[in-house]
Amino acid sequence: MEGNNKPVVNLISRPEHMLKTVYTACRTCYSADYPINIYNSTDDEEKMLKLIERVVSSGHYSTIEHIQISFAISNVSRACTHQLVRHRHMSFSQKSQRYVKEKGQFDYIIPPTIDKNPDMKKKFEKFMEQISNQYQEFVEAGIPAEDARFVLPNAAASSMVVSMNLRELIHVANLRLCSRAQYEIRTLVKMMCEELAKVEPWLKPYLVPKCERLGFCDEDKSCGRMPKLGE
Ligand SMILES: Cc1cc2nc3c(=O)[nH]c(=O)nc-3n(C[C@H](O)[C@H](O)[C@H](O)COP(=O)(O)OP(=O)(O)OC[C@H]3O[C@@H](n4cnc5c(N)ncnc54)[C@H](O)[C@@H]3O)c2cc1C
Repeated sequence: MEGNNKPVVNLISRPEHMLKTVYTACRTCYSADYPINIYNSTDDEEKMLKLIERVVSSGHYSTIEHIQISFAISNVSRACTHQLVRHRHMSFSQKSQRYVKEKGQFDYIIPPTIDKNPDMKKKFEKFMEQISNQYQEFVEAGIPAEDARFVLPNAAASSMVVSMNLRELIHVANLRLCSRAQYEIRTLVKMMCEELAKVEPWLKPYLVPKCERLGFCDEDKSCGRMPKLGE
């Protein structure tokens, strides 16, 4: 896995009737009918999508909180997972550096700017080897893994299971697909969105950078994809 910089992302869990569930939540707010009758109705997809877009774009976000999604994620740096865990409505189970001892050279992620510079890449790899040797020396000297890990770098690869509701995934996509987000978390979140959109293509218009939902860029420095507000 060393030097292979792409995250590994798999969708491992989602509700069976995602669209119908969100539609039922939306429609229930404006209908005298029982939710179960709405759920069992034969309303077509176009009608469902139209209502969902109207409700969600008005900020009525509880309607998309009923959907829980889980991903299995590997081959991402600790730098990246540290950014992801800042999202407080996600649940995480991450490979422990206390309980899982590194045996031999630990896996690590090389950022593309270093990966494509042969001189710098060589230095990076040599440094990872030095860190690994030091880590192993600590472990062999009886230092517990939970303390030996203090020398492991941000580049060390990690794995996690991440779960969230649809509202949070859309929020994270809006923030982290922005070109101002760092490349690795942007790649990771893009892969999460693509995995979900493969099976739930109706979500594509929501799993976009925030500027596409807002219609303008609210960042200090714009990438030019959308005009800044007032421009
Ligand atoms: C491009 C970029 C650069 C960043 N740079 C830095 C940096 O330099 N340093 C740094 O420390 N962080 C940085 N961050 C992290 C950022 O500050 C947020 O911690 C992170 O993006 C989580 O966002 P959030 O709070 O919107 O989302 P979540 O934690 O996922 O929460 C979702 C939403 O829930 C609501 N919410 C959650 N918790 C609270 C609360 N306690 N009170 C009120 N409302 C709440 C808010 O509406 C929030 O938007 C950066 C993030 C991005 C995208």
